[in-house]
Amino acid sequence: MTSHLKSTRLPIAENEAWTHRVPAQIEFCSVTKMYGSVAAVKDLSLAVRRDEFLTILGPSGSGKTTALMLLAGFVAPTKGDILIAGNSVASVPSYRRDQGIVFQSYALFPHLSVRRNLEFPLEMRGMKAAERAVRVDCMLERVRLKEFGGRMPSQLSGGQQQRVALARALIADPPVLLLDEPLGALDRNLREQMQGEIKRLHKEFGKTTICVTHDQEEALTLSDRIVVMRDGQIEQIDTPEALYDRPASRFVAKFLGEANMLEDAGLMIESDTVPRNGTVAMIRPERICIAAPTAPKRTDAEQRQSVTGTVEDMIFAGPLRKYHVRVGSTVLIGREHVAAGQQTFRPGDEVRLEWLRSDVRFVTA
Ligand code: ADP
Ligand code: MG
Repeated sequence: MTSHLKSTRLPIAENEAWTHRVPAQIEFCSVTKMYGSVAAVKDLSLAVRRDEFLTILGPSGSGKTTALMLLAGFVAPTKGDILIAGNSVASVPSYRRDQGIVFQSYALFPHLSVRRNLEFPLEMRGMKAAERAVRVDCMLERVRLKEFGGRMPSQLSGGQQQRVALARALIADPPVLLLDEPLGALDRNLREQMQGEIKRLHKEFGKTTICVTHDQEEALTLSDRIVVMRDGQIEQIDTPEALYDRPASRFVAKFLGEANMLEDAGLMIESDTVPRNGTVAMIRPERICIAAPTAPKRTDAEQRQSVTGTVEDMIFAGPLRKYHVRVGSTVLIGREHVAAGQQTFRPGDEVRLEWLRSDVRFVTA
């Protein structure tokens, strides 16, 4: 990890807080947080590795923000403990936890310029004005806001404000970065751009980062690992690829992408593996091929299951076409990339749907 901040180490040896710290490992040990009779977080155990970008993903009310607030020290666990770098933080107040935080609710100070916003955490830590100035200049450059130091937050776009918020979280060089729906307020294009920016900053600064979001695309794009939460508990934790390709439950399959539940179609599922008890067959829309009923068989036809159905809807989405196809009592969704020479089907068309038996997944119902 190379850090510009490190290479321009400031002469602040008398204040240990300004040495460049190793990113921390974080552990939740059976943490429960009750609000009255509601368990916002239930017996949560989770280890976050040094340098890791971990995203907590889940629907509204699943306990994501509470988990982050527990880590930040804004709420105390009802049961269990949290360790940072191996030490319990139970008795450490939030302002001593040394974490950079970008919460949706943590807006910039509206009455302070960008520079003053960035200086604030440094001032709180007792850094002298000249040192602060150097550090702020350096950070403004790193988040590409060099020209904006004198502006007030209201004179910035949403994306620029969010970059300042990130810069403010990073400027004191905390070993841990916490982000709660950091891009929630931005429009789609800007969100994508900022995702790239967050990724770049994570690579450069190498902070152990925990990000909370309900946006699956954000989670898939940014994370080393994703924790899917449901009702205060972990439903599944894995890398983005593994989570998408091998969801453990119907809930995860449906929350992360689109999923066709094949049993709903009343089909006899052909599979190469013996399904475990209590599981149902699922296939992703992009694994389903759509062909005219008269189209010649594929060379790998004996590895495929094939059913016929009727197109109910075709949704054109630029480079993709999405088909809703009625099969028996259900509608299966197929998605294909538009390619040269490909046949387009219309509502009412009979089609043949085919998929590789090895692409069928069995998930807990
Ligand atoms: P998320 O961030 O995933 O939307 P939260 O962590 O905010 O979920 O909330 C989880 C659950 O805890 C919800 O049922 C919510 O209503 C409840 N909750 C959160 N904060 C409080 C609070 N301060 N007082 C009472 N209930 C709360
Ligand atoms: Mg929340």
